[in-house]
Amino acid sequence: MKILVCDKTEADAIERMRAAGLTVDTKFEVTPEELPNLLPAYDGMVVRSRTKVRQPLIDICPNLKVIVRGGVGLDTIDAEYARSKGITVMNTPKASSASVAELTIGYMFALARSIHQATATMKAEKWEKKAFEGDEIGGKTLGIIGFGNIGKEVAKRAAALGMTVLAYDPYVKETAEGKRVSLDELLARADYISLHLPKTNKSQNMIDKAQFEKMKTGVRIINCARGGIVNEAALYEAIISGKVAGAALDVYDVEPPTDWKLAKLDNVICSPHIGAQTKEAQGRVAAEVADKLIEFSKK
Ligand code: NAD
Repeated sequence: MKILVCDKTEADAIERMRAAGLTVDTKFEVTPEELPNLLPAYDGMVVRSRTKVRQPLIDICPNLKVIVRGGVGLDTIDAEYARSKGITVMNTPKASSASVAELTIGYMFALARSIHQATATMKAEKWEKKAFEGDEIGGKTLGIIGFGNIGKEVAKRAAALGMTVLAYDPYVKETAEGKRVSLDELLARADYISLHLPKTNKSQNMIDKAQFEKMKTGVRIINCARGGIVNEAALYEAIISGKVAGAALDVYDVEPPTDWKLAKLDNVICSPHIGAQTKEAQGRVAAEVADKLIEFSKK
């Protein structure tokens, strides 16, 4: 089997696939313009979030048998269409869960104690001790929307910190790590709201003006899932009005953003989609990609 690896993947995993008999070419910086010329010669492809696999590309690759996405979200691939053409589409669902959960928890602490703002004042040689009275995380209520792999990892860590965890996920029965509630109850009770659901037609703009109105004044929002689940214009307004005391964002409607006004607000902490960017997660993702392709090649 001939495999094209389109995005950066650890060398160990590439070597393991080669040792198992796969022909593996790496083109980590391949562009959308180059792919239509290259991909038809391959049986399989490995992508991360950078490379998008849309219907027109699939249509010109009749030999393609397998697409492996190193990561969770399949929103970068027309997965259902690919499957309808007989292509196997796989991802690495749990490899980065702990890393995203840790970033989420880190963001809660940073919001509670304004660590980013305090750092900025110190770098400006200002000593503004009185400006930084924060809150403790313990005893607060965390509302988790989307109670899958990452949501549950966040819940375990939050419970260990003494938080009350509320969970909203209409598709999950088992919520032992948190109390299952309706979305409205979660919005009304939570001091922190963290999103851990995929972006779908249903979840796009799920948190909009009407949902902000149902929240406590002073709530803090964390989005390490996908941009667009929280309506960015509504979030901006909710922060400016004081309804939302702070937000932490790892994902955006458009990446990189074309409009930076949210990122520039003092009480917004943000990062460039780094949830899974740890050595441990990257290693696990690559190892799982290799395992899945080797297994597939034996069928
Ligand atoms: P998962 O599939 O294990 O869990 C997602 C959960 O969301 C599921 O339990 C599902 O039932 C629930 N859900 C779906 N639609 C919903 C809705 N409308 N309302 C409430 N719940 C809904 O996925 P996961 O591994 O936990 O990942 C969650 C999200 O995190 C995904 O969007 C993924 O793309 C994103 N993610 C981001 C990064 C990053 O770098 N920031 C890294 C990995 C994953």
